[in-house]
Amino acid sequence: MSVGVFGGTFDPIHWGHLRAAEEVAEQLELESVLFVPSASPPHKTSSDIAPAELRLAWVRDAIADNPHFAVDPLEVERGGHSYSYETLQEIGARLASELPVFVIGCDAFCEIDEWREPETLLRLAHFAVMTRPPADRGTLRDWLPRPLAGAIEFAPDGRSGRHREVGTKLDLVEISALDVSSSDVRRRLREGRSLRYLLPEAIRSKVEQSGVYAPA
Ligand code: ATP
Repeated sequence: MSVGVFGGTFDPIHWGHLRAAEEVAEQLELESVLFVPSASPPHKTSSDIAPAELRLAWVRDAIADNPHFAVDPLEVERGGHSYSYETLQEIGARLASELPVFVIGCDAFCEIDEWREPETLLRLAHFAVMTRPPADRGTLRDWLPRPLAGAIEFAPDGRSGRHREVGTKLDLVEISALDVSSSDVRRRLREGRSLRYLLPEAIRSKVEQSGVYAPA
């Protein structure tokens, strides 16, 4: 009965996020997936991204028909920069009996040493690291940044691992390749192109009419 924690900017949420969460939940038998939109991601300036309240509302609408998905506004409510280690501490304290499973794409996992408190992150949750095109060749052993590698003991095939001290698990989760990204959605909108079939119809017109990614 594990809970997945899926953090992201969701600027905006798209089918790649939704299908990824569905496949990870299925493969790891997660009871639920909590989508956690960031307030202000440390690596982006807030003028670059849509307002947090809008991104949160779109996530809420996009997941509304899935009983295993929920949205947690804790980062938006906390405000300021969103640090995943603080989020996992807070959700972990709530869950009490079991550690959460942090759901992350391999593109983000490869850069996790640049996040705040990366060693702490690896201790606070199990990790489900999803394949994501185009750079999804390799294994966890290849993707985990060097400075963190000493903390993890990998299986011989490099596709799973365990924290040497606290026993948190890491799993590579192979999912269907959907090469959809929020930046591509934003680019198409700025260019006045179609967004159909890149994100749920329930939010497409809301995203289009919000004007936040309007043509320059
Ligand atoms: P941007 O293009 O603005 O960087 P993004 O599409 O990568 O945005 P984020 O909200 O930054 O979306 O991503 C949140 C998480 O979802 C990250 O861990 C990312 O790797 C993962 N993710 C996003 N899109 C996909 C996808 N198509 N397949 C698998 N994982 C994805």
